[in-house]
Amino acid sequence: MTQKTLPFTRQEIMKIIKKYPTPFHIYDERAIRQNATEFLKAFGVLEGFRQFFAVKANPNPFILKMLKEEGMGVDCSSLPELEIAERIGFKGEQVMFSSNDTPAEEFIKARKLGAIINLDDISHIAFLEKAAGIPQLICFRYNPGPARQGNEIIGKPEEAKYGLTKAQMLQAYELARKKGAKRFGMHTMVISNELNEGYFIETARMMFKLAVEIHDKTGIKIEFVNLGGGIGIPYKPEQKPVSYRKVAEGVKKAYDEIIVKNRLHPVRIFTECGRVILGPYGYLITKVNHIKHIYRDYVGTDACMANLMRPGMYGAYHHITVLGKESKPLDHIYDVTGGLCENNDKFAINRKLPEIGIGDILAIHDTGAHGFAMGFNYNGKLRSAELLLRENGSVLQIRRAETVKDYFATLDFKSAKEFS
Ligand SMILES: *Cc1c(COP(=O)(O)O)cnc(C)c1O
Repeated sequence: MTQKTLPFTRQEIMKIIKKYPTPFHIYDERAIRQNATEFLKAFGVLEGFRQFFAVKANPNPFILKMLKEEGMGVDCSSLPELEIAERIGFKGEQVMFSSNDTPAEEFIKARKLGAIINLDDISHIAFLEKAAGIPQLICFRYNPGPARQGNEIIGKPEEAKYGLTKAQMLQAYELARKKGAKRFGMHTMVISNELNEGYFIETARMMFKLAVEIHDKTGIKIEFVNLGGGIGIPYKPEQKPVSYRKVAEGVKKAYDEIIVKNRLHPVRIFTECGRVILGPYGYLITKVNHIKHIYRDYVGTDACMANLMRPGMYGAYHHITVLGKESKPLDHIYDVTGGLCENNDKFAINRKLPEIGIGDILAIHDTGAHGFAMGFNYNGKLRSAELLLRENGSVLQIRRAETVKDYFATLDFKSAKEFS
């Protein structure tokens, strides 16, 4: 079994805790930049390639600014996400707007920003026309239904709420053209947290064939194919990371065989990955407050599901390192819990760990994406701080922890009037 490593020692974390109390998420800038460079270099074999970071995975402006510097665009799906993108300086076609069940004001904002609008349904053409007008460039999200298998996070495409059917895709491009659209893109997202490179190559093949079919039947030329996000990360120590090179080269081969052969070159390839861009480079640091021995042995931490929902929500595995006990034998079995009054508030169930004592510091791995971002205030729990471990070893607080005052910020006891 390979070991999961940390970019900091127990001593370094103890020093940080003196200034920023636990729990907090800490992100590793050096590793984020290095991975971004590798990702963009590998996919650079595809002419005109662009990666749009899925903002929902980690909407911290400092992080988004770093990814902008590395050369990524952003994928937004709500008004606040569009607003963050705008404030950081993302403009026009650097922004992809892939939403579903979308309110009119979000389409208006996306149009103002000049974002690429990706429609989730054929009926949204009329909705968009009325709300904000039809832009020159329009994209549709394809749901292949029974033609593809999903996985447990995203579900089967056939049961997923997203996208248009095959027949609707053909109609949608013609309808959009009739209403004035001149440039056309195509999107899909059929998998989440997938480690098999072949799956993404299959998705590209499916999309390239559809681009050919659309061209044959309507004369419409697809300008870009957005393959969505969904590249997985090795949450478990024995898993292997996805090879970007293998995916990129497989997509290129499919491109040559389908797009080039059918004389549709050039078609740009886009991705909108979130998890693989940040997931492995964030850690939730939490302190052990209690140990209890009942029918099982429980380690109670000062973090909870509000700081990291994935284990409770999907039964997802997140590796845990007990700082300073890295070389101790894993001869105890614990459930590692948070303090919500919900029994699924557990970071680990029946996990083999070294003997843990009160005051021990745990690093919960792979919280850089879909970690802090999924936070909530249920049970009066407050969101933690986010810290950035800089390349020079210094630490920057990039979001402070919520306070009780924040929790009350949306309440106004004095002016509240009964509605009648
Ligand atoms: C969530 C999401 C993504 C990012 O998915 P990852 O698994 O984080 O790569 C990309 N596109 C859309 C439309 C999404 O909903």
